[in-house]
Amino acid sequence: MDSLFKAFTVFENEDGSFKSEIISKSIDDLPPGDVLVRVDFSSLNYKDALSATGNKGVTKKYPHTPGIDAVGTVEDTSHSSFKIGDQVIVSGYDMGQNTAGGFGEYIRVPREWVALMPEGLTKKESIILGTAGMTAGLSLRELQKKNGIEGKLAIVTGATGGVGSVAVIVCSKLGYNVTAVTGKDSKADYLKSLGAKNVVNRSEFDKDPRLIDKGLWDGVVDTVGGKILANAIVQTNPNGIIAVCGNANTNELNTNVIPFMLRGIKLWGMDSANCSIKRREFIWNEAANLIDFNLLEASIQTVSLEELIETYPKILKGEISGRVLVDLNK
Ligand code: NDP
Repeated sequence: MDSLFKAFTVFENEDGSFKSEIISKSIDDLPPGDVLVRVDFSSLNYKDALSATGNKGVTKKYPHTPGIDAVGTVEDTSHSSFKIGDQVIVSGYDMGQNTAGGFGEYIRVPREWVALMPEGLTKKESIILGTAGMTAGLSLRELQKKNGIEGKLAIVTGATGGVGSVAVIVCSKLGYNVTAVTGKDSKADYLKSLGAKNVVNRSEFDKDPRLIDKGLWDGVVDTVGGKILANAIVQTNPNGIIAVCGNANTNELNTNVIPFMLRGIKLWGMDSANCSIKRREFIWNEAANLIDFNLLEASIQTVSLEELIETYPKILKGEISGRVLVDLNK
């Protein structure tokens, strides 16, 4: 094993601005942990771009190597649950936030953060699942559990995004009638190929919501927040559930209590980062059986660490559709 490795690293300048560079790091620079993993793939998530641009809500101290997802091979371990050569997936917890993450060729993490790769999946397929698959899978599990599937209408917002696109596939495969909300009309055919029955432009949701509106959805997977979420809430059918996953538009939500009182709807928060490893393995295996990875192939871009420097700012501007994979061997 070479003790020096390449890592995308973010530095805070003296004037408070941030810059990203590919640098050479030593294994000794990694935090202590039970499992040393040689990373093959990571993926670009919204949270990674926040970390890379100095968002102190995500990463408090710099220099830092982001990357909340990693798939690779165990190179060293002090714990009997794993052996050298195991193919593993590490996602969430503190990885990539304040612990050096998957945008480096090596990570060292506690054993509780490490899962064996879902059976039958390649490394590339496993990283597609990563945080996005976990969040979509957790959301769908809640929709299914709380309100059933048969004849149910679901809506997915931020539909061309990492979480959204996987949610559209899983939702449709489970049997929901899925409406996808997107800002990109040009992606309507793509979203239909993933399983959406209808595609709606997000501008239709860019209005002040009524106190209560015509019920249209039994389940909502929202990745954006703001007016889109507020309108989805007042359009949710009795006993419907809204899985609140993300804030790609805003942290804000202005709503009212009427739909909750009259329709008994549930607003349900999703936290993929702190989900137990047992639940993770369950959700990944379940999602793996539902996802046709060929469908996603057309929307996957694979970049090297060097190319990542140009790519990550685009995710914050909503300019990326589908998944960006980071190939550490490219
Ligand atoms: P992506 O950037 O891949 O997707 C977000 C999508 O949201 C975009 O593709 C776009 O889709 C839409 N969007 C972007 N900007 C706006 C805007 N201003 N107004 C409305 N829609 C917008 O991000 P991810 O899928 O990785 O993450 C989505 C959200 O979920 C993020 O906020 C992220 O932090 C959060 N998240 C939460 C997790 C959890 O555990 N709760 C885990 C993972 C992510 P389109 O053009 O199709 O509308």
